[in-house]
Amino acid sequence: MRASLYVHAPFCRAKCRYCAFFSAPTGPAGPAPGELSRYLTALEAEMDAQAAAFGRVSAPTLFFGGGTPSLLGQDALARIFAALRQRFELLPDAEATLEANPESATPELLAAARALGVNRLSLGVQSLDDALLARLGRPHDAAQARAAFAAARAAGFANIGLDLIFGLPGQGVEHWLDTLRQAIGLGPEHLSCYGLTIEPGTPLAGDEAALSALPDEDAQAEMFLRGSELLRAAGYTHYEISNFARPGRQCRHNLSCWRGEDVLAFGPAAVSTMGVSTRGVSPVGVSAMAAGAGRTRWANPADLAAWEALVLSGQAGQAGCDVLDDATQAREALMLALRTAEGLDVAAHARRFGVDVPARHAALLEQLERAGLAELSGGRLCLTTEGMLVSNSVIRALAF
Ligand code: SF4
Repeated sequence: MRASLYVHAPFCRAKCRYCAFFSAPTGPAGPAPGELSRYLTALEAEMDAQAAAFGRVSAPTLFFGGGTPSLLGQDALARIFAALRQRFELLPDAEATLEANPESATPELLAAARALGVNRLSLGVQSLDDALLARLGRPHDAAQARAAFAAARAAGFANIGLDLIFGLPGQGVEHWLDTLRQAIGLGPEHLSCYGLTIEPGTPLAGDEAALSALPDEDAQAEMFLRGSELLRAAGYTHYEISNFARPGRQCRHNLSCWRGEDVLAFGPAAVSTMGVSTRGVSPVGVSAMAAGAGRTRWANPADLAAWEALVLSGQAGQAGCDVLDDATQAREALMLALRTAEGLDVAAHARRFGVDVPARHAALLEQLERAGLAELSGGRLCLTTEGMLVSNSVIRALAF
């Protein structure tokens, strides 16, 4: 059985002011030894359970996300790699990505990660403006981000992605474009550019001064469109709404998720989507095939202690497990495909799900094409860059 692997590292040095992801703040020293050891033991127990259900899965990609995976340290990374390799097969040309934050991406950690087989680094830079980084509560400055990038190259990483955020408080269009020019100057193979979202309950959501300084909708739209234009002119392909890559350097792990391929995920808050197990055992202990369903999805608790208790009691994957019916799969496939530049293969979609999207939405598609928001050509339905800007409403209209 083939599936991408994902490992969620649940620790962060401090909580960034905008962040609603699940992670536990540890302070500058990283996770305490006991806490780290409990996490690793639970991770191995979860791998055991899924290897029992799905067999020796062959993985074309492996992704360490978080949280801050670089905060785990080299010994923990080595233990996780050993545990994965014992139970699963990392294919010889597998893409193995490590998310890293500049303050914990030390030369020693980067060298150890390379030696373990990590061949792609995703560096959380977010901004190259120290005042904005402080406002976001990031635990590093721009100089540390540049130093981490240089250290990654020195460690032998030939495939580095930078994560950036636009639409920050007080940021203008030119400031964002200047950030992009500086980032391009570093020479990364990949850039992820996300518009800032204000998540309820985060410190930023209660910061009136920051909220009143947010760029308006028009400015954010201009940042997206002109940013895309700038990156394309610099040789990057805009291959997904928020992602740009040099030719051949698209993130294979994310592409496989957007194509709806199987993902087996470990750690708190990790989400798996898998076809029926080769052993006839689904994560809920009932054969999904017997129930007439092709795929299951389960989300681990977004709580370290609850996840540890669950997997150590032998119930990995039993919480929140859904069987995906055909209608849900069809809708998801369309929504995910339209986020990407390769778009939706309409004939393949019709064959697989019995849904002829151009026929079902003929009038809407004509409107979208006339407005320059979507294109149907060569059997593929894609959003234009302008369409990506309003992707949520366009995709919703086509998917329901
Ligand atoms: S480092 Fe990433 S996951 Fe951790 S708190 Fe900051 S944004 Fe959230």
